[in-house]
Amino acid sequence: MPVGTNLFRQVKIQKTLISYKAYEKEFLFFVEEYNYHKFYIMKKKTLLILFSFSFLCLRAQTDPKQTEWYYPEPLKVSPGNVPGAPPSDAIILFDGKDLSMWETNHKEDVKWKIVNGALTVVPGTGEIFTKEYFGDCQLHIEFKSPAPEKYNGQDRGNSGIFLQSRYEIQVLDGDNNPTYVNGMVGSVYKQQAPLVNAYTKNGEWQVYDIYFKAPCFGTGGKLESPAMVTVVLNGIVVQNNYILKGNTPYIGFPEYTPHGRLPLMLQDHGTEVAFRNIWIREL
Ligand code: MG
Repeated sequence: MPVGTNLFRQVKIQKTLISYKAYEKEFLFFVEEYNYHKFYIMKKKTLLILFSFSFLCLRAQTDPKQTEWYYPEPLKVSPGNVPGAPPSDAIILFDGKDLSMWETNHKEDVKWKIVNGALTVVPGTGEIFTKEYFGDCQLHIEFKSPAPEKYNGQDRGNSGIFLQSRYEIQVLDGDNNPTYVNGMVGSVYKQQAPLVNAYTKNGEWQVYDIYFKAPCFGTGGKLESPAMVTVVLNGIVVQNNYILKGNTPYIGFPEYTPHGRLPLMLQDHGTEVAFRNIWIREL
């Protein structure tokens, strides 16, 4: 084979090698570029997703409809025509004339008297109970203490509003009548003194508005949620969402025993306390 032919072949191979290396370099560059673009596109996509998500979140938080509902629509209830008068959905327990909503603990007619339109305790005739049973409620009741000459402390104008026949909001003359403070007017008897003494003067009508959350008992009579009460006396809050420890006995400590709905009870404590304008709303 002539020498020139070999040389020609060598040059050709070398040229091929050079062009292959150039190609390889170009290819690597391309791969690098592709990866960079891929990363860049991914980054862009991630940012786009994050941005869209933030936008949706922002929209959810700023759209007022997300936090509005329209059903069930609350019933229309009209207020009384003067302060203290019963609203349209109240159950009238005493209107100045009629005792038919009440009975004794033996289911007999009550012996208390109506005097000048007021339901008045006849000492010694016993407690009176509503025939209806109640749970959570709003109660309005007005009372007047008898003349104070004969009595002092717990004996002066003592009665009581027993929610569910067990939880007493004390009724007492609070006009210059010292006694234990967790037994004075506005107290949850023997549990909690009132925040203030909101009683006005002996001989004046006192107005209670009471908001009561009944206790709940679960399986086996286990207490699931205790009773809670807010008491307003003469427009002044004297108990603010007080959580009851149990019933309100004269002797001993409060305790819960399971029960359901029960009557409202008014106490005969031996003094001629008068009541009027008694109405209740079930809640
Ligand atoms: Mg009492």
